[in-house]
Amino acid sequence: MADSRGRKLIIAIDGPAGAGKSTIASRLARKLGYKNLESGAMYRALALKAIEWDVSFEDEAALVNLADQSRIRLEPSLGGNRVLLDERDVSSRVRERDVTEAASRVSVHPRVREWMVARQREMGIGGGVVMEGRDIGTKVFPDADLKIFLDADPVVREQRRLEQQRIKGPSAESIAAELRERDQRDRTRANSPLLPAPDAVILDSTNLSEDKVLETVEELARKKLGSKSAAK
Ligand code: C5P
Repeated sequence: MADSRGRKLIIAIDGPAGAGKSTIASRLARKLGYKNLESGAMYRALALKAIEWDVSFEDEAALVNLADQSRIRLEPSLGGNRVLLDERDVSSRVRERDVTEAASRVSVHPRVREWMVARQREMGIGGGVVMEGRDIGTKVFPDADLKIFLDADPVVREQRRLEQQRIKGPSAESIAAELRERDQRDRTRANSPLLPAPDAVILDSTNLSEDKVLETVEELARKKLGSKSAAK
């Protein structure tokens, strides 16, 4: 969907794990006919390559070097993004526990982030994108047309994540602990910590249904499209 002069929006959705970003971003993108780009999947792809090539998650220079030798692509599809690492489909593999943990570690390095941000900008520059992550509204697209910070109570986020992955029993507590740890790392890292942009709309989805969140975000996007037309 474009404004009366054919311009399409850049929509940033940031927030912690389990707040519902991916679902909302992909449903919103479908409604608007936009591309949904999951920036976290790129950190995951690099983390996977570091695991496979035995590169330390602490070695910033080696990680950047590895990234320079890699082709990481996201292909929006109905069920989320297809993740291609050097043309290999790693979409399922990057969701596994070891890669999740590694992604959170490689993403603390400023030069790794610079590498990612440059590519994410290239992917979204023409508009018509809903990009989700942690720093989209603050760093990747500080001039995004619409910025949403989607949050939820930590306990609710943990429950959602466990339900999503159909995890029960003893591993549930350790997965929940990992999510808390990952959250803490994202929020406290020196470079681009997870924070709402000053002009972001903060939505707390703790007591909201997915449909209600989508409706709210869609309404905001349609308003922006209207004002974008009116302003020109
Ligand atoms: O969003 P997702 O859980 O797939 O992201 C995996 C990890 O990548 C996060 O825990 C976070 O550390 C990192 N990330 C980031 N900046 C983004 C997206 C993800 O630092 N824009």
